[in-house]
Amino acid sequence: MIQLQEIRKRFGDHEVLRSVSVDIPEGQVTALIGPSGSGKSTLLRCVNLLETPDSGTLTLGSETLTFVPGRHPERAAVQRIRQQTGMVFQNFQLFPHQSAVQNVMEGLVTVKHWDKARAHARACELLDKVGLKEKIDAWPASLSGGQQQRVAIARALAPEPAVLLCDEPTSALDPGLAAEVVAVLRALASEGMTMLMATHDLRLAAQVARQTVFLLDGAVVETGSSQTLFNAPHDARTRRFVATLTGTAT
Ligand code: ADP
Ligand code: MG
Repeated sequence: MIQLQEIRKRFGDHEVLRSVSVDIPEGQVTALIGPSGSGKSTLLRCVNLLETPDSGTLTLGSETLTFVPGRHPERAAVQRIRQQTGMVFQNFQLFPHQSAVQNVMEGLVTVKHWDKARAHARACELLDKVGLKEKIDAWPASLSGGQQQRVAIARALAPEPAVLLCDEPTSALDPGLAAEVVAVLRALASEGMTMLMATHDLRLAAQVARQTVFLLDGAVVETGSSQTLFNAPHDARTRRFVATLTGTAT
């Protein structure tokens, strides 16, 4: 179980997360939806501690960290949490001067100190899994956006994270290429990968995520099954936002 309890984060005098509490069940996908600026990326970055929450509690597996304003969390605890997460970004963020397989190996060699042969074998396995067996030695610039994102997913999976965090993984892609990425994420979901993903992509949110959280102005408006959130939301604000996603806004 991944649990966020009363997470607060401010940048200057702008409180971007205003006491956010979310339970992310293991073995399933949770979608995070909300308008631009509602705090989705910041929330994801608080889970892998790229941002340090000002206050609140984060639980990831057996690790629990409570944040206190003005105090830095213990470095070792931050590392233990970070190592249990993998992150996929909207704009892929591959290393441009490394081939696909080198991108996937990188963390295994530098962070986990695997020897190169073992890391290479694991990276090839993962590239095969995301349908890129033929592109192992390709440079990122020679790959389509959908292929680059699949390399990025393989890279995030390499250290076997407990949770995969995805920040709008399909929003930089044309519909056809986005579909390739959705298919890979859906396959991971069906294998029981725990994922938390910010997305505006209805296919991802409604079809891949079991649970959806609607964030507005840094606060959770509604959490529930994706079925309920997309078809019969309880809150009028959720209904209005979902209508903008489905194109049924009047
Ligand atoms: P979303 O991903 O939902 O679009 P973000 O989490 O990126 O939202 O941003 C939420 C708010 O926090 C926005 O108003 C944004 O400008 C602000 N913000 C995000 N990161 C920073 C930062 N590093 N410094 C200052 N403001 C930030
Ligand atoms: Mg964002």
